[in-house]
Amino acid sequence: MSDVKDENRARFGVPADSMVFARGVRKSYGPLEVLKGVDLDVPVGSVACIIGPSGSGKSTFLRCINHLEKLSAGILLVDSQFVGYDLRDDKLYEVKDDLLCQRRAETGMLFQSFNLFSHMTVMENLIEAPMQVRRIPPDQAKAEAEILLRRVGLLDKVDRYPRELSGGQQQRVAIARAMAMKPKVLLFDEPTSALDPELVGEVLQVMRDLAESGMTMVVVTHEIGFAREIGDQLVFMDGGVIIERGAPREMIANPVSPRTREFLSRVL
Ligand code: ADP
Ligand code: MG
Repeated sequence: MSDVKDENRARFGVPADSMVFARGVRKSYGPLEVLKGVDLDVPVGSVACIIGPSGSGKSTFLRCINHLEKLSAGILLVDSQFVGYDLRDDKLYEVKDDLLCQRRAETGMLFQSFNLFSHMTVMENLIEAPMQVRRIPPDQAKAEAEILLRRVGLLDKVDRYPRELSGGQQQRVAIARAMAMKPKVLLFDEPTSALDPELVGEVLQVMRDLAESGMTMVVVTHEIGFAREIGDQLVFMDGGVIIERGAPREMIANPVSPRTREFLSRVL
């Protein structure tokens, strides 16, 4: 396995510490080109925050990283393994179906809408995929789930159903559930956008703790304060391309592109 990774690194010039490596990623839906050549480097243990107006392709890009969408063109590797690529003479690479589930589990994804299994308790939500996909025994799955629930401050809710929890608590369970798959990278798609304002802080705190523990994260968010404090890089997307990227503090204080400046003035 590491031979394949070494080969890929050498072939595409992937840095040794790369978790996400994107070059010229394109995605079209019929005639509509949504991603028009996206480049991104997310080193292991770092946090990349992506901002940009609605419809700029942020969710589509995360879905590509998570194997939920097939690329139209470009090179995309997670942990130096292909998600997809297209080079002049090569065919578009696709991960074989039998590997897809496992590879998708390596990239945990969190959505605005939490997406917990509503008919399962918190504990059942956390142990389902580890037992089915990682094939670990129930006792071990439960023990691991308890550690994660303690970490997100919800150990007392193990036997509750999602509907009995607040939105903030549900999102914290969703984060714990994603972590239960031991992902290499966590992808967040506007994780706090559906929450009442007073519940945003508790979710951002869990994300801050994860970042500080060394978790690699790609976070699409409108929370500029979070991006400034926690982000190692800030990326501004508009119209399917990255307009500007940089250190969050500098970029927020001194955006170079007028489009970045205009966007920031609306969300700050
Ligand atoms: P963002 O997350 O930045 O708001 P999206 O990635 O959701 O942007 O969408 C970018 C564009 O792609 C939008 O114009 C959207 O309508 C279009 N789009 C997204 N998903 C699909 C799809 N499955 N089929 C067709 N068009 C889509
Ligand atoms: Mg979106």
